[in-house]
Amino acid sequence: MTSRKPISITVLGGGREIGANSYLLDWKGSRILLDCGLDVTKKGYESLPRFDALGKRGVDAVIVTHAHIDHVGSLPIIMDAYLGRGRRVHVTVPSKKLIPLMLMDSAKMQVCPRGQSEDYPYEWCLDRQSVSKMFASRSVFAAHTFGEKFRIADGLFGSFFPSGHILGAAGVVLWDGGHSLVYTGDIAKHKQTIHNGCMLPDLADDIDFLLIESTRGSIESDPNNDRKAETHALAEEINDTLQRGGHVLLPSFALGKTQELIVLLESMKWDGLIPVDTPVLYHHGLSSAINKVYEMYPEYLNGYDPKIISIASRRVTAFNVNDEFKTAQELTRVPSIFVFTSGMLSRGSPSARLAEELVQSEKNGIFFTSYVAPEEFGYELAGAATGDFVQPDLKSDRRIRVICPHRRRFSLSSHATRDDLLSIADHFNPRVAVWVHGEPESTEWLNHSFSERHPEALSLQPATEQKIILTDSQ
Ligand SMILES: [Zn+2]
Ligand SMILES: [Zn+2]
Repeated sequence: MTSRKPISITVLGGGREIGANSYLLDWKGSRILLDCGLDVTKKGYESLPRFDALGKRGVDAVIVTHAHIDHVGSLPIIMDAYLGRGRRVHVTVPSKKLIPLMLMDSAKMQVCPRGQSEDYPYEWCLDRQSVSKMFASRSVFAAHTFGEKFRIADGLFGSFFPSGHILGAAGVVLWDGGHSLVYTGDIAKHKQTIHNGCMLPDLADDIDFLLIESTRGSIESDPNNDRKAETHALAEEINDTLQRGGHVLLPSFALGKTQELIVLLESMKWDGLIPVDTPVLYHHGLSSAINKVYEMYPEYLNGYDPKIISIASRRVTAFNVNDEFKTAQELTRVPSIFVFTSGMLSRGSPSARLAEELVQSEKNGIFFTSYVAPEEFGYELAGAATGDFVQPDLKSDRRIRVICPHRRRFSLSSHATRDDLLSIADHFNPRVAVWVHGEPESTEWLNHSFSERHPEALSLQPATEQKIILTDSQ
């Protein structure tokens, strides 16, 4: 009697944190992994979800909501150690193209030859060769369009819906005859420049369980500080910087943010907000490959022709990463806008190296438009007072003095505001809401606010490693 078996969720990562997001769903005996991320702010074993909890039985299916590394970075380990042959990884059509690109790139950052790493308790590590071999030898992906019904396990079905956020990002509805669950993945209700907002499915009934992200739960939603006002404020800062003869750095992520910023800058030019002849440069490499995937799926975007991305910008090809800034300067000779990865100025990344140069002149401007984790260089730099010393490389004592005062954060997030998150939860009206993928103050606020709005429902904010029984076996 399968219907007598319980439904439970074990948080393997992403409980009261934005880390290696991964949730083990035990659905009446079938084991489904919802996302399998990697925490890029950590190294080795610490960067992985708590896969030890999977034990020897492994998983029957994996659902990956989108191609960001914090949701898919540990997929190679799952494929190698926990997903038997013939088992499937369910993704959306664009994600199928994006995921191998993202994994190859993250493998490049985490080279650890087989058998030579003490950090991983696995024989196999995330080196580049293994990743490419793995994808060449196995076709694990089952790619689905939005709204398509697919079978996950015995009697259990799923369907993706657009969650906004980035190209191909999805939430997923799971159901059998008796129960239903929605997992939002990363979700945005608002339209961005090139990305649509989410399109929530109109289900016939309220759902039983909602697993929902909480990224912006601690940030007050300000109705006066909307996206348009924020875009104008950013354009003003960019203009001032260019007029001073300075360069602008917009730290960015290769997937989603880079494409969004390039099209946003182009639309600022069309609207006369910044000079039309200002060069926009992005860092060649992963971003270029991702731009090509954007060009393949214009129907997943909100009306802009994605070809604009390559027309409106130039890629900086730097063969020697130490010469990056010099190369870029030689390419432009005039004040320019650099859309460089990573968005958090991760130490050693192209944007961090460029920032090191730019903060040493008061003419330049560095403007953040994404979440920056407290352990990253971007966090230190954004919060530093002019005249402070910062440490671009934690392995060396070298410090640089921050001369540039023009460092500012802008709210152009690809995640829903906390009011929007509550309205998304209202839409599904679940019996149980589970708040994940957020710092403790974020999950706390959402958990509390949802409880007040829905006193009849159960609201939870589990920590990583916690198991929640959603239905008992009685
Ligand atoms: Zn994401
Ligand atoms: Zn995420």
